[in-house]
Amino acid sequence: MTIITKKGQWKAVVGASALVLALTACSGTPAATTPAATGTTPATAAAPEKPAGTNVAGINELPVGDSGPQAAGEFLEVNAVYFQAVDMKHGSMAMPAASDSDMHFEIDVKTTAGASAIGFEPDQFLPYLKINPKLTEKNTGEVVDLGTLMPMIAVDGPHYGNNIKLKPGLYTVELTIQSPADDFMLHTGNDTSAVSGRFWTEPLKVTFDNFEWDGQLL
Ligand SMILES: [Zn+2]
Repeated sequence: MTIITKKGQWKAVVGASALVLALTACSGTPAATTPAATGTTPATAAAPEKPAGTNVAGINELPVGDSGPQAAGEFLEVNAVYFQAVDMKHGSMAMPAASDSDMHFEIDVKTTAGASAIGFEPDQFLPYLKINPKLTEKNTGEVVDLGTLMPMIAVDGPHYGNNIKLKPGLYTVELTIQSPADDFMLHTGNDTSAVSGRFWTEPLKVTFDNFEWDGQLL
């Protein structure tokens, strides 16, 4: 996903309603026999429930640094992006509010062809990962530990992320990706349901370099 334009969707709905009205008006069908021409139905069609989208902000996903998507072990490709902080429904998890954050920091994870060894199709989300980003400011050496990112889902699918605060700077971002083996089992028996692959044992390390954050979004 790059841009969500709710306004565009709203326009599309209005356009469809207008078309219905135009067709109704031109049909020439006697009003008494056609519910669509009774006068009440067109009014309903022309006033769909007002979507929350009329004031919805677009999202402009930006790459974290200049490294691009990175391979992580045999089964994963990961990418890091950021955009404006977003509101999230988070149950009992303590998550920073969008209003208290500088950005939404997101790690997209997708399985590779090699993940067939653990039963996955390519381009799938891998659940139960614990991903910990460590940011090092390249001039000052200051290290920022973002903690463990949480799984969540948006219109473009599941990912790991959080709302974060970050001082402007030029950062190297190192991800540590723990094996999900303690939370996610594999069939391994002597039967046809077993997978041949095994999760990694040592945490995977992935680096996104030259993440320049000037404190301004979009
Ligand atoms: Zn997110």
